[in-house]
Amino acid sequence: MKKVFLLFSGGLDSIIAARLLKLRGFDVEAVHFKTPFFGKEESELEELADRIEVELKVFDITGEFLPVLKNPPHGYGKNVNPCIDCKALMFKKLKEIAGDGIIATGEVAGQRPMSQRVHALKLIEKIAGLEGRVLRPLSGKILPPTIYEKEGVVKREWLLDIQGRSRKRYPEIIKSLGIDADLPTPAGGCLLTQPAFARKVKDLIEHDQLTKKDIALLRTGRHFRLSKGKLVVGKNREENVFLKNFADDGDVLIYTVDVPGPTAVLRHSDLSEDIETASRIVAGYSDGKNRDKVTVAVEREGEREEIKVKPLLDFDSFRVN
Ligand code: SF4
Repeated sequence: MKKVFLLFSGGLDSIIAARLLKLRGFDVEAVHFKTPFFGKEESELEELADRIEVELKVFDITGEFLPVLKNPPHGYGKNVNPCIDCKALMFKKLKEIAGDGIIATGEVAGQRPMSQRVHALKLIEKIAGLEGRVLRPLSGKILPPTIYEKEGVVKREWLLDIQGRSRKRYPEIIKSLGIDADLPTPAGGCLLTQPAFARKVKDLIEHDQLTKKDIALLRTGRHFRLSKGKLVVGKNREENVFLKNFADDGDVLIYTVDVPGPTAVLRHSDLSEDIETASRIVAGYSDGKNRDKVTVAVEREGEREEIKVKPLLDFDSFRVN
């Protein structure tokens, strides 16, 4: 029996695909790709893989994904999600990993707007050089036969005929495959499909600052775009501590001195105009926002200075998220 390399998101569809293939006697290896924008907790995935009795391999594809995110040949979906090219990249990686093994996914034809319409499924296969070589057990009965069917390794009657978004038949399918109804499914979708997060990513792309370090800040704080730099202001004590530890050479760390207030990091700018605006925004979020002046500390390149600034309260024009 050939080995199956299954693109494994950890969601229900990929669990159904894994169990279906496993019950047909295939040796299933679940392959999970992650980046800072998608991917699930490895420990949760491991627990899940154990429960459905498949091997698990997790690969971080951030380095290869960032150029795709910056400039996707097939464009973005509703937000900043380059689904066609993202899927094509995953398929290419899966092809490298699988060698002459069977490649499979839990995709359902017509389920998602961009990457799972039938013609999109074909296009993605073509880009990845995998035409006719991707087995989709959940929709296999309504899709053209794959090479595995033609070779007799997979039988059409084993496959399901699910299409569209309805999950009405899932309880019955789950039961027939012996999937535990209480199976833990790791949380977390793709952040690139969330409008507020997507705005922050778009801002980094537009300013050519889509670096791993800048991406690491996207889940923290309030984000502002100044004339050259990017300012991130902590929303609570935990974020303030994170930002203080995060700032390194080249960053400007800003925090209030004479009143309680947030900590902020200014990146990609040492313009005095940006430092002034950043300090005024930090003061605007402090307990001294109604004062005439607030004292703010500015640390950069190992030097610290204190400046008095007028709190800025009308900062919406600088907001990114
Ligand atoms: S939703 Fe996100 S992870 Fe999924 S294909 Fe689109 S960009 Fe990739």
